[in-house]
Amino acid sequence: MKEIQISRAIIEQYTTKLLDRLENDVVIAGSGPAGLAAAYYLAKGGVKTTVIERKLAIGGGIWGGAAGFNEIVLEDSEILDEIGIPSKKKNGLTIADSVEFATTLCSKTIAAGAVVFNLTDIEDIIVKKNAVCGVVVNGTGIKLARLHVDPFCISAKFVVDSTGHPAELVAMLKNRDEKFHVKKIGEGFMDVETSEAGVVERTGEIFKGLYVAGMSVCSAYNLPRMGPIFGGMLKSGKKVAELINAKL
Ligand SMILES: Cc1cc2nc3c(=O)[nH]c(=O)nc-3n(C[C@H](O)[C@H](O)[C@H](O)COP(=O)(O)OP(=O)(O)OC[C@H]3O[C@@H](n4cnc5c(N)ncnc54)[C@H](O)[C@@H]3O)c2cc1C
Repeated sequence: MKEIQISRAIIEQYTTKLLDRLENDVVIAGSGPAGLAAAYYLAKGGVKTTVIERKLAIGGGIWGGAAGFNEIVLEDSEILDEIGIPSKKKNGLTIADSVEFATTLCSKTIAAGAVVFNLTDIEDIIVKKNAVCGVVVNGTGIKLARLHVDPFCISAKFVVDSTGHPAELVAMLKNRDEKFHVKKIGEGFMDVETSEAGVVERTGEIFKGLYVAGMSVCSAYNLPRMGPIFGGMLKSGKKVAELINAKL
């Protein structure tokens, strides 16, 4: 086997995949628990869904559990059971191994038909006729090196901001559109009950074409933080998938 054949196989396969994903039903920004859950339910329903993740590894804040104790706590196992992620019951709570949770959630999402591009940074959004209709992306390495290199664009009927605490896509609108109702990005003090319910309740379309899910919801609506509990993240991801499915 020649070295060049290996390179050709990688480059051809990647560009074929990328060309197919320049136009999408849904682009999910960020591969944390909310983004992956949204992608799983959308892809499972036959929606062309692409996840874009800046980092090398998928999973966002899943891996570390609390303070590096790599266990995930949820209120119930309903969504885990639906997706097929193993868990245990303890003292009325559901517990899952973080590593098994991240890897299984991602593999089930890809098996459902979603495509994940890691090492790809969303640096801007496309807004036309006052609606979000795509994202502007660049290689993470280019961003980290602060190189003066132009990005390329990926279109979508709907975009989901599941970028976690910074709510990066929402922030792009806030910083440019004076009429946008979000004036401040950031969470309030810790209050698990209020936030776990609130994050699901407020999940939805925040600007035409742009939906928020997961911690982005807390940041955009200044809800309390909820600490290392992940039930709300999965429920928020599932809800955003249902809302978009209903629109499609
Ligand atoms: C350092 C840290 C602090 C935490 N603090 C809190 C807290 O205060 N309160 C709380 O309730 N939970 C906290 N958590 C727990 C946990 O992060 C969240 O509850 C949960 O992971 C959020 O899930 P998510 O899917 O909304 O976003 P995340 O798990 O944060 O995933 C977001 C993903 O989006 C990616 N991303 C972001 N911007 C872009 C972009 N422009 N382009 C491409 N990809 C992008 C990120 O790389 C990340 O992988 C924390 C976790 C960590 C690691």
